[in-house]
This record gives sequence, C-alpha cells and structure tokens, in this order.
Amino acid sequence: MPRPLVATIHLAALQHNLAVAKSHAPRSKAWAVVKANAYGHGLERAMRTFSDADGLALIEVDGAVRLREWGWTKPILLLEGFFDSADLPVCAAHGIQFAVHCNEQIDMIEKANLQAPVYVHLKLNSGMNRLGFAPDSLRAAHARLSGIAAVSSVTLMTHFANADDSGNAGLPLAEQVRRFEQATMGLPGQRSVANSATVLEHAELAADWVRPGIMLYGGTPGGRSAEAFGLKPAMSLESEIIGIQHIAAGEAVGYGSRFIAAKPMTIGVVACGYADGYPRHAPNGTPIMVDGHRTGLAGRVSMDMITVDLTDIPSARVGSKVELWGNKLPIDEVATAAGTIGYELMCALAPRVRVIEQ
Ligand SMILES: *Cc1c(COP(=O)(O)O)cnc(C)c1O
Repeated sequence: MPRPLVATIHLAALQHNLAVAKSHAPRSKAWAVVKANAYGHGLERAMRTFSDADGLALIEVDGAVRLREWGWTKPILLLEGFFDSADLPVCAAHGIQFAVHCNEQIDMIEKANLQAPVYVHLKLNSGMNRLGFAPDSLRAAHARLSGIAAVSSVTLMTHFANADDSGNAGLPLAEQVRRFEQATMGLPGQRSVANSATVLEHAELAADWVRPGIMLYGGTPGGRSAEAFGLKPAMSLESEIIGIQHIAAGEAVGYGSRFIAAKPMTIGVVACGYADGYPRHAPNGTPIMVDGHRTGLAGRVSMDMITVDLTDIPSARVGSKVELWGNKLPIDEVATAAGTIGYELMCALAPRVRVIEQ
C-alpha cells in the first residue's frame, strides 16, 4: 500500500476559478499563470484544464516548449523573458512570447538575426524595483525593439507590488499606475498589468490582458478569504492518523520537545512532514482537520510526520482522515498560521507526494 498522504487536484475548481477571473475582467484576455509547475498543481494538467484561457504564462523556456509538444496552440508567454540568446530561436520557432526587461536582452535580439517573428512584452519598472526598464528609459527601449524587423508586436507590461494593499506607504498602487500611464502614454501596443490581486480588487485596471495566478488555484494574495471571492480550493492535501499516544501532563512531544502537555492528552501522528512540503516552521496550534474536526499541531514538524492534538476528538483513531489543507481548511489559513503564504505551500508540494485528480 502507498503512504496515505495524497494531494487531490480538483479540476472543476481550476475551471471555476478561471471563469471567476474572466468574469472580473470580461473585456480582457487572460493569461493563466502556470509558473512553478502550475503553483504545484501540475503543468500538463493545468494546460488541459485551462483550455478556456487565452494564453499560458510561465518562467522556463523548456516548460513552454513542452506545452507546445503537449498540444497547446494558443499564446505562451515567458514572464521573465529569455535567459540566454540560445533561447531566442526556440521562442521564434515555437511562437513563444517573452518579456523584455533590460537592454542586454534587446542586444541579444538585435544580434540573433531571427527568421521567424517574435512577440515581446516590454516591461516597465513602475516602482517594484525588480525587473523592468526605468520610466525614463522605456521609450528608447520601445524604439529599439520597434526597429528590429523580427519583432512583430510590443505589448506594454508592468507588475504591481501592492494590489492587495493599495494604500501601502512604501509604494501605493495609484503611484505605480501613474508611472505606467505616464511612461507608456501615446505608445502603440496592448497593455498587461493585472495579477490576481488586481483582478479581484481593482478590476478597472484590467486592460487588454490580465495575468491571474494564485486565484486560479483557489488562493488569495494578502491572506484574504478565497471563499468570499467565490474561489474554490484546487488542491486538497490529505493523509491519515498512523499512530496515537496517550501522554501525561508534563510529557513532551517531538524534536526539541517544543510542545509540553499541560494536562493528560491524546496525540495523533500524521503521515506528512516537511519533506512533503508541509512548512517546518508551522507553530503549535497551526490548524488541521482530523475526522472532520478542527484541531492543531502539537510539536515540531518532522521530515515525514507531524503530531496533532486529538484530546477533544474522541472518535479519532489510527486510520482517521486528516486534511492538512483543502475544502474544509483553506490553504491561506494554514499559511497565515505558519507565517507564510498559500503560494509557498502550493509550490512546495514535494514530488514524493502522490497526486490524484478529480
Ligand atoms: C506570478 C506572476 C503573476 C501572477 O501573480 P498572482 O499573484 O499569482 O496572481 C502575474 N504576473 C507576473 C509577471 C508574475 O510573475
């Protein structure tokens, strides 16, 4: 028998969440963002399930080529562009669109002498100070790209740091919007600015293309309730109780004896650990469902096991069902308790975890 730990990917939820994204931005085309193995949900599976998307966006060129080999004929976008000039003929041959965020990339396109057309997404650094051209250098970059015969279209893109927290004093959303509008004013081409937070909370900024990621998987940016946005969890991580200990007051549980029982307790051992993607830094009390009841972590997360408080769940026994996250326990809630975000938990799902789809 395999280990009882299993991740279930809910295909209907993925489709539903894409429909929610499209309903927020009905006049925009939608890139379904499938980077990081579709946020842990499986790239090939996501491709099959997101057939209603207008394009798929990811990071790696080899993943993009695989999407073509698996039969995706609609647009594909490399969100960070290419990393090496050897990728350029590959992008041209497969019709893989790519971001251009620095002059070094333009140098490579100029030198590549491409035979097939390429479709570029010129990225503005509107204040996040990660990738992109500074506002005062965008027009020169646009002119250089427009002068390259193989460049068929230039879409204007930027990425928002705080769409889920628009008043953030470090960089208000409105300031990024202002910089984008000013830097791109009068330039031809489509616009692409909106991640999930923008789609969900500032749909008026949707523009020609939106780029939802986390919302497609039933999570939200900024720890808001996905359910309140009508999103459905696309990943459930479930396991079973594989052992039970009845301990006296004062007994300690697990490595480092981080949890010490204040009273007589029942402790359940769950087949799931940090080597499966469960966050090792999850504190005591991190929520977990056992046999339909909500309880909490008791003791440090081990490589292959976690320990949970079963004292108030008398029905629990070896073999009882455990939900680490999923339909009854939102992944964002577990992430918040563990000091991280749902994105990280999804992406960290380890290759050794059995995945089934439903
Ligand atoms: C990851 C990413 C997105 C999607 O972000 P979410 O917060 O998951 O919706 C959109 N655009 C770019 C450039 C990205 O890198």
